[in-house]
Amino acid sequence: MCYDGADGTPEEQPAGRSGGREAPSRRAFGRFLVAGGGLAALSACTPDQAAVPSGTPGPTPGPDTFTRPAAASASSSAAGTPSTPAPANPSSAVATPAAPSAAAASASPPSAAAPGPKHSLSDPTSPWVVVNKHRPLSPATFVPPDLVRPAVRLATSGEASLLNSTTAAAAERMFAAAAAAGVIITLASGYRSFATQKVTYSGWVRAQGQAAADTASARPGFSEHQTGWAFDIGDGSGADAFQPNFRSRPAAVWAAAQAHRFGFVVRYPWTFQEITGYFYEPWHLRYIGIEAATDMKSRSIATLEQYFGLEAAPGYR
Ligand SMILES: [Zn+2]
Repeated sequence: MCYDGADGTPEEQPAGRSGGREAPSRRAFGRFLVAGGGLAALSACTPDQAAVPSGTPGPTPGPDTFTRPAAASASSSAAGTPSTPAPANPSSAVATPAAPSAAAASASPPSAAAPGPKHSLSDPTSPWVVVNKHRPLSPATFVPPDLVRPAVRLATSGEASLLNSTTAAAAERMFAAAAAAGVIITLASGYRSFATQKVTYSGWVRAQGQAAADTASARPGFSEHQTGWAFDIGDGSGADAFQPNFRSRPAAVWAAAQAHRFGFVVRYPWTFQEITGYFYEPWHLRYIGIEAATDMKSRSIATLEQYFGLEAAPGYR
């Protein structure tokens, strides 16, 4: 969920969405019900995104659209990307990755050849922590010790306006650079606590059952937003907010091209939902550091799972 923790300025609240900071309202669930079976099945950020019908115009039916890359194709993509053989063993500082899988068929993860220092993949205070449907935060109730409110244009408040200090500083630099280029970027939703996620997810389970809830909202302890390393952007207009077509907005276009210079990646790229577990989210940025983000960009490695040689996590186990 991207912005249920946000009170959301009006321009960041597209029609038909809940702006509540608390648990999803009955109205929100009502809209969910109205949206019916046509759900965008996998949403990292918000239960409200689940209200996007799968047939919504946008990238879904497009020519280069969700072809549901199988793990095998993802594997070939991952394996085919790095051209330089990686060292046999990544730094010992890197946590032991999950068991190899089809998506991690390479002998060594591309990150093994990444420039710069290596970091833990499991410690939630590490810029390389990978949180997905196979890898919950540990501890599940983790709270970043250094949450701060970045000095950027906010489209939210409360805990959702917070980031860990490293991410906040990088966001300030990135937003300023975008502004200098004439592009407005807003912070739409940042940190989200375990408690907030629990309330939200529980609400969905009560309303829809667990299976449907899992398509709409990250389980508590499984949201990257809880790490403080991730946030969602808007552009101040509200247009296409939290929608696939946001990719065409200047903020998203700029971020896709430039975010790596500030240490960010678009965490849930288009057509990689079988690896990341989430459909395309051009608004969801994740800090991993400038060196790693630039390395991923230059080598056209799309996901953290591939970059770090981790198994695909299309769903909860
Ligand atoms: Zn998000």
